Amino acid sequence: MATETFNFQAEISQLMSLIINTFYSNKEIFLRELISNASDALDKIRYEALTDPSKLDSEKDLFIRITPDKEHNVLSIRDSGIGMTKADLVNNLGTIAKSGTKAFMEALSSGADISMIGQFGVGFYSAYLVADKVQVITKHNDDEQYIWESAAGGSFTITRDTVNPPLGRGTEMRLFLKEDQLEYLEEKKIKDIVKKHSEFIGYPIQLVVEKEVEKEVEDDEEEVEESEDKIQEIDEEEDKKEKKKKTIKEKTTDTEELNKTKPLWTRTPDDISNEEYGAFYKALTNDWEDHLAVKHFSVEGQLEFRAILFLPKRAPLDMFETKKKRNNIKLYVRRVFIMDDCEELIPEWLNFVKGIVDSEDLPLNISREMLQQNKILKVIRKNLVKKCLEMFQELTEDKENFAKFYEAFSKNIKLGIHEDSQNRQKLAELLRYHSTKSGDEMTSLKDYVTRMPEKQKNIYYITGESRAAVENSPFLEVLKKKGFEVLLMTDPIDEYSTTQLREYDGKKLVCITKEGLELEEDEEEKAAREAEEKQYEDLTKTIKEILGDKVEKVVLSNRIVDSPCVLVTGQFGWSANMERIMKAQALRDSSMSSYMASKKTLELNPNHPIIKTLKDKVAADKNDRTVKDLTTLLYETSLLSSGFTLDEPNVFANRIHRMIKLGLSIDDEEENTEAEGTSADAAPALEPVESSMEEVD
Ligand code: ADP
Ligand code: MG
Repeated sequence: MATETFNFQAEISQLMSLIINTFYSNKEIFLRELISNASDALDKIRYEALTDPSKLDSEKDLFIRITPDKEHNVLSIRDSGIGMTKADLVNNLGTIAKSGTKAFMEALSSGADISMIGQFGVGFYSAYLVADKVQVITKHNDDEQYIWESAAGGSFTITRDTVNPPLGRGTEMRLFLKEDQLEYLEEKKIKDIVKKHSEFIGYPIQLVVEKEVEKEVEDDEEEVEESEDKIQEIDEEEDKKEKKKKTIKEKTTDTEELNKTKPLWTRTPDDISNEEYGAFYKALTNDWEDHLAVKHFSVEGQLEFRAILFLPKRAPLDMFETKKKRNNIKLYVRRVFIMDDCEELIPEWLNFVKGIVDSEDLPLNISREMLQQNKILKVIRKNLVKKCLEMFQELTEDKENFAKFYEAFSKNIKLGIHEDSQNRQKLAELLRYHSTKSGDEMTSLKDYVTRMPEKQKNIYYITGESRAAVENSPFLEVLKKKGFEVLLMTDPIDEYSTTQLREYDGKKLVCITKEGLELEEDEEEKAAREAEEKQYEDLTKTIKEILGDKVEKVVLSNRIVDSPCVLVTGQFGWSANMERIMKAQALRDSSMSSYMASKKTLELNPNHPIIKTLKDKVAADKNDRTVKDLTTLLYETSLLSSGFTLDEPNVFANRIHRMIKLGLSIDDEEENTEAEGTSADAAPALEPVESSMEEVD
């Protein structure tokens, strides 16, 4: 059979030379990676065999076997897993780059450690840390046995295997060790590494060891002469026997099982040290760091299961990439691994929690279809959510670690508030926000409530693109003056979660950029406002006529102090921030968008000189042209200061440019010709603006 040569995909090739050439001392992790691949392959065949037991016929034993061959300096790691077809070999080992290939190289160049390789899905190539040539001999049930071989250098070969003994099923990795890496053939070294990195692998890891065994042979003269040096001792008893016997030492091989520890979750939590949990977590997840928190528990009664849940320290890079399969909670049934991507076990918003569940009640041969309606699984899921919430709540007592947790996973918590109506209030306890009073720290809703002045009834918040944008928003003016604290929300998901949450501790969550802001006012304030509303009736009417459909209403504002006006949105519609988010998501033209798009109310500040002057102008002459032009400008500027975007920024810019020219006393005649091309609509605004600007200033 001919040998076929393939080129490694360019990034993989680059990665391999990086692995080969980087000076790196912690090379031993290669063994962990190869054992973890073997274990994955065994998981796969075991899972297939649940529905079709005949798949195991090609090899009934499920094992991982390490054989050091000191004669040829070859370390072999073989498994009786699923194996690879020829197509698998081509695709999985060299021609198709995973997103992790590049990501790993980037991480390395910014100081990441090579031992993180497994997290990036390219662990196989770590074999080249210790080997200058690697052979992969593999047999899948659906194909012949093949040899994949590469000494790096940009290419690999695949050949039908007619030379090696048949594997039955599975894969053997043969590492032709570099001359300075022969220590990995030593029994003790291998045992240490397996103990350190692979203790919790769920299949027996066998080490083939050389043993000198004592063997009895008949004591005939010839043999004595041949192997005189091997004779150790002569059994005293032998003299009494009819035929004389003696014992010699002979070299044979034997296999020793290296991972005999009981599964961690079957032990009592009190007997397990944090180091053991850490080691288990790392083995489970490929993470290079310890976990942030752990919850180990069992449930008994109508239904029985044990579980260990871990909280990682960091969010994975691709957490919200929805297409990617999650394999965070491994499902076992009576100690037998069933699957690691059971979606029914934990809701999407908890997709960052890792761990295992071992059920006593599920059938061993459960299929994916059965899982979807399974009642037992539903109960398990409910319990897992409950325990996760407990774990988060416990973490709040450790301020530093909770801050880490919140930074990494606040989006998930907010997603949970949006999706899990039953646990919404419990999740609300975990929320933390910056506020107008919290300084650099973040505040919980609970702490916010304790700081509320007596007359304050609601919890106030503002949403926007950045902290700087919301902190200086005109909407905060009156609330600050009244001493009311405002939560500053800058995460797009806050829009969704707060609308779902609605209230906390019996207090309404009120968005201060939406209409109907009923700031707690006393009788006096109320009377004053009503009197003012009368005074300004003409102005508000006139402005509404000028702006037409652009705004829903024009009213006097109770929330601004320093700005002339703001635009607020309907209580149940989108906020300005939400409108920005939806526009960014290109949903602008959908029917939903026109339905939800903010119905704006223009609120005027009766104490502002601009508004006062406008009022006087309207009183003098309702049809004053300057009123019309200034109103348009005011409307557009408040769009900006209220957090909206302009539909036609050019028209607005032209208006401003004209004003700048006026300020610089540039002659109208000259600039008229220049501007005409850009905006015919803006042109009439020009002349009247001049006179009004002088008055306002
Ligand atoms: P990962 O294990 O994260 O997928 P690796 O680089 O370690 O990444 O392995 C690449 C792929 O090669 C695996 O996904 C698997 O398809 C295949 N593979 C590696 N080792 C084995 C093995 N022992 N048996 C079967 N397939 C294997
Ligand atoms: Mg791997």
